[in-house]
Amino acid sequence: MSNNQSKRARQLSRLIELNHLAARLDSSTLLQTIVDMAAELTQSDYCSILIHDPQADELRFIAGPWLHMPVLAKISVPVEGSIAGATLRYNEPQLLTAAEQDSRLYRRVEELLGIRTRTLLSVPVRFREQVLGVLQAVNRTEGEYDHEDTAFLLSLAAQAGAALYLQQLETQIVEMQAKVGALEEHKTSFISITSHELRTPLGIILGNATFLRQMLNNPEFRPHLDAIVISALRLKEVIESLGRADNLQSGTARLRAEEVDLNALIADVATGNQAEANRRKIQLTIHLEQDNLIVEAEADKIVVVLQNLLRNALAFTDEGGFVQVSSQRIPGYAQVTVTDTGIGIPTGEQGRIFERFYQVESHLTRHHGGMGLGLSVARAMIELHGGQIWVESQVGRGSTFSFVLPEKQVLSKPPEPKEVPASQPDSAGLNRNH
Ligand code: ADP
Repeated sequence: MSNNQSKRARQLSRLIELNHLAARLDSSTLLQTIVDMAAELTQSDYCSILIHDPQADELRFIAGPWLHMPVLAKISVPVEGSIAGATLRYNEPQLLTAAEQDSRLYRRVEELLGIRTRTLLSVPVRFREQVLGVLQAVNRTEGEYDHEDTAFLLSLAAQAGAALYLQQLETQIVEMQAKVGALEEHKTSFISITSHELRTPLGIILGNATFLRQMLNNPEFRPHLDAIVISALRLKEVIESLGRADNLQSGTARLRAEEVDLNALIADVATGNQAEANRRKIQLTIHLEQDNLIVEAEADKIVVVLQNLLRNALAFTDEGGFVQVSSQRIPGYAQVTVTDTGIGIPTGEQGRIFERFYQVESHLTRHHGGMGLGLSVARAMIELHGGQIWVESQVGRGSTFSFVLPEKQVLSKPPEPKEVPASQPDSAGLNRNH
């Protein structure tokens, strides 16, 4: 085998080796391995990789002889007038054979490394159509760089391009995560400050309006005072849900758990929504587990969850539709479902609706109020109780929201089954079906 053939064979086997390594090494180690391999197999004094900074339009060393890297890392090579810059601009290999007389050689590197450059081969580092940087080999020990060296460097540069691209993506992800984190913090403190600042003046408005409503018997003022009180109460609810979301997000929400009869809570919340259901001509029914379902929970928080689910079910269901709240025992858990025959939720959106402020339809075009907080609060509250919440839905057919809570093991004897007629509306006008 000739000298050239054996060199080619070694280059090929090292390229195969590099291919195997590429998947296992992090990008910096891979780039360092590439320059070491390039120097060894092109018999060069050293090799280096420079990355292009498009904003400053200069090149910076990101891999090279490791002993000199601390010095090289501080150097910027201008694109204009340098051989590395020409490689980048023309997207083609460049060869300097009499470097001493060539003005395109960036002398600062020579000065700092104490190496005299006689020959230099520079190839573009690309990923797809984009030229990301340059791979350079300096001073072939014997003779000049030839076509084989150029081909070998180009193969290595292809590996380096993929590694650089990956590194850029990683940096972008880290930067974006930092930005998202900062935005999230701004959002949280905005919510916290706003809900806190609004609470006091609203309390004063509500208190005084309620007082005036009691004191002024004049029927002429009554509708105006009612309007103030109703709107102030609505605003209070908005502020409370902002405050709740803030507490749950910041982890300051605490659970004051006690034994809770889930069926009783469901019946109460459903009764409270009956007037709205009637107004919207929606048939609201409840279908409860025969036995008592006792859970260890904070009743107020479960009421908020039920209220949010039920309010959504009514809001997103058209006139003539049906909404049913049901409960059932599954081994170790109590399960509650709120089913509606409303507009439904596209599959792609079903995971996102539990995020804070997420709404399927833009708040600018939608017909319903709301801030996109109800479901995120519901999820946080259910998870705080060691439960889970989820949705199943089909666009145009309706949605079923379900949650489970661990059932409390009650040692006392099972309660008497309740006798409720199957189809007769109960006192609140609700249809209870067992
Ligand atoms: P909002 O205050 O907007 O109702 P939620 O967090 O409660 O906030 O709900 C988030 C979004 O999920 C809603 O804006 C709506 O797009 C969708 N959604 C929630 N419940 C239903 C439902 N029962 N039917 C259809 N879409 C729903």
